[in-house]
Amino acid sequence: MNPKIPTETQLPLYKAAPPSEPVNITQGQAARRVYIETYGCQMNVSDSELMSGILTRNGYEMVDRLENANVVLLNTCAIRENAEEKVLNRLKHLDHRKQVQSDLVLGVCGCMAQHMKTKLIDAAPYVDFVLGPDAYRNLPMAINSVTTGDPFLDLTLDKGEDYADLAPIRVDGVRAWLTIQRGCDKMCTFCIVPFVRGRERSIPMHLLVDDVKRLVDEGFKEVVLLGQTVNSYNDGTHNFGDLLFAMSEVEAIERIRFTSPHPSDATDALIEAMASCDKVCNQIHLPLQSGSTKVLKAMRRTYTAEAYRELVAKMRARIPNLSISTDVIVGFCGETETDFMETYNLMAEIRYDSAFMFKYSSREGTLADKTLDDDVSDKEKGCRLREIIELQEGISHEINQGLIGETAAVLVEGESRRDPNRYQGKTDGFKTTVFPKENSQVGDLVRVKVESVTAHTLIGSLVAAPL
Ligand code: SF4
Repeated sequence: MNPKIPTETQLPLYKAAPPSEPVNITQGQAARRVYIETYGCQMNVSDSELMSGILTRNGYEMVDRLENANVVLLNTCAIRENAEEKVLNRLKHLDHRKQVQSDLVLGVCGCMAQHMKTKLIDAAPYVDFVLGPDAYRNLPMAINSVTTGDPFLDLTLDKGEDYADLAPIRVDGVRAWLTIQRGCDKMCTFCIVPFVRGRERSIPMHLLVDDVKRLVDEGFKEVVLLGQTVNSYNDGTHNFGDLLFAMSEVEAIERIRFTSPHPSDATDALIEAMASCDKVCNQIHLPLQSGSTKVLKAMRRTYTAEAYRELVAKMRARIPNLSISTDVIVGFCGETETDFMETYNLMAEIRYDSAFMFKYSSREGTLADKTLDDDVSDKEKGCRLREIIELQEGISHEINQGLIGETAAVLVEGESRRDPNRYQGKTDGFKTTVFPKENSQVGDLVRVKVESVTAHTLIGSLVAAPL
């Protein structure tokens, strides 16, 4: 295997291309139709939109069905082992397709590409190129290089790369995802992200404010700011609170959200911006990970359970009706029954609106994998996970039951998946709400009276539409 890695002099070729001047590298070649399949988190959804922008500017056509494509890109996730297994299985299926479609080009991009490196080519030698998250400018070069035979690899992590000059092509809708920061400097021991996404870097505030203005012009009503630790945003002059205030000034943007913040960076400036800016939703996803200070230390989460508890109390005191969700990992290295009960009790005390809950699984390359003993049995992890899921389901249902009879402002997103006569949308607190369409339209901000609930959905009727 002789993968090609571009030299420093090759890299600036595409960096130099200004957004307004398309580089038609497909001239004289068969038209390239590209299908992107996205795995993992919203950062990847946002990156796929970035790739669509790069490819479209370079003369490629984006298609929304695999059957219509002659270039297939998998934009992958490495956060859990099963995410990688899923992609490897998908690649086997695409290999079969390649055997009957001789012009099919297959590329793997994103976190798993960066994590597996040449091992990915060993596992799937029919893959034509592998690009890490900082190498998307080289997509056209990678696709074009396929004619020369050897797989193309670009896994350069570039602290200077923020793609700020490149316009993504977004899927239509009411909510736009806007990456404001890339990479992570936190180094939590269980996490692969700092190794596959590199060091933290923030896009200058004035460019982001211009982005929001453009999103409004394109018809988006809500923007979700994305970053690995979104609230550690700092462009050298402005912090995350400054950014929220500046974005709130953009006329006609209805709602601003962000994900995911790190509790250690939840400063007073952030709380003040959330409390003062009407457009910033009263909702936060605040990863806890563990309720045991001992386990948090082993995870290198940089806060204690007590500090987290105080932060939540401070936020709730300053921001009325704050909706809080979280991430929790059970069975981390060294987690005893007592540690687990501290997590359980803290979840019961805080009463999250919702939670993403996982069993710990070691990821090759992380600090925990290298230095800690994965000593909780899988059976025990499963028991602990079931206990907190049951706890959380009950709490979510109770919180939602408390909303029956209340009226909520809902941004209409589209047809309900289960009933074509109903729309669905999200409340300010990011609760999915379903209601009869009547005279409302997608993009309206309507008032819905909550009549019944499940643990995950509010069901109601329109009391006035639009606002
Ligand atoms: S803060 Fe921790 S969990 Fe989040 S991306 Fe960074 S290293 Fe991973």
